[in-house]
Amino acid sequence: MFSPESFPRWSGCGGSAYFRGRAVKIDLASAREVHASVRGTEVYAVMLRAGRTTLGVYCTCPYFDSSGRCKHVWATLLAAEERGNLAASCTRTSAAESTERSRA
Ligand SMILES: [Zn+2]
Repeated sequence: MFSPESFPRWSGCGGSAYFRGRAVKIDLASAREVHASVRGTEVYAVMLRAGRTTLGVYCTCPYFDSSGRCKHVWATLLAAEERGNLAASCTRTSAAESTERSRA
């Protein structure tokens, strides 16, 4: 049930509010695949699966159903990145990093 149309790879790593709030709980993580629970209105299940140039994503929230690329997915991307999961993915100029800097 991954979205066939996939993310273009990390074009921006935006939407970090959820990440800052630590709403993401990583349930399973590897270099290729991440499963997480993200707390929002409800708890949504997010899955990421890294391909060679794209990332397959899936979230159980209604927004993902209609539009895809919801904030839960972004939050999970950022959380996975911080933990070093999905290793070969993001460039290190992620939103998470700039958030740390602006706080200092
Ligand atoms: Zn979602």
